[in-house]
Amino acid sequence: MKISLTNQIKLRISICILLVIIGIPYWFYTGGTLLGLIALRLFAMFIHTVGSIGNHRWLAHNSFKPSSFGARFMLISIVMNGLEKPLFYSITHLAHHRHVDTELDPHTPVVYSFWDMFWGRYGTKLKTGYIVPKHFLRNKEAMFVHNHFWKLVISFNVLLAIIDLPTALLFTPVNFLGAWIGANIVNYHGHNGHKGREQIEPINMAHWWAFLISFSGEENHKNHHDAPSCYHFEGNGRKDPARWIVEYILMDKDRLKVA
Ligand SMILES: [Zn+2]
Ligand SMILES: [Zn+2]
Repeated sequence: MKISLTNQIKLRISICILLVIIGIPYWFYTGGTLLGLIALRLFAMFIHTVGSIGNHRWLAHNSFKPSSFGARFMLISIVMNGLEKPLFYSITHLAHHRHVDTELDPHTPVVYSFWDMFWGRYGTKLKTGYIVPKHFLRNKEAMFVHNHFWKLVISFNVLLAIIDLPTALLFTPVNFLGAWIGANIVNYHGHNGHKGREQIEPINMAHWWAFLISFSGEENHKNHHDAPSCYHFEGNGRKDPARWIVEYILMDKDRLKVA
């Protein structure tokens, strides 16, 4: 039996919400402290950002050359976030840039409501206008993660659950929900979806909560559309908190010296 993409997304969201609802009381029931929970989530948010940089800035846009440590750290973080198969992310995302806010854009508020996007109700327009990034296909480690993505995500979660079940319940499920909600907020509000069809275009989001939710510089969405191959999203008076992570942790240092 083949499950449709929409139902797969609904299933993933529902399972993760359920795990988090169980996970929070279970954390305290098993003796976890509030401070421990905050420490866990701060670390998990860092992994969220590293995975987001990996999927978006590195694998989709090829906007910087990582060190071998940086590349592996991003691939592991992508698995720990459990968002979606990374080549699919890249293909969908490059189609968004190529056909921005037209009928061929796979997730534009011109065509879809926020809740259409959130629940994966994308219709049939996902079938045309795609480019497959060659740099991704040539990257053996990234292709390995793409080809074995769900096996890796499940293995990581089973292993973590065996080591510490309360941590497992509040790691990947929360990161998945955070990444999914953040991506949909950027795709909708980062294109002025809340202002109605006439004003739809990429914007640097002004909502105070946009920074908190995306936590990865993605709120500077207009800056990114203006310069998609730039590894940071700064400009127009906006800071990008993920810039230093790219420069000091992930990027190949020789390249930084040249730049
Ligand atoms: Zn966009
Ligand atoms: Zn992009």
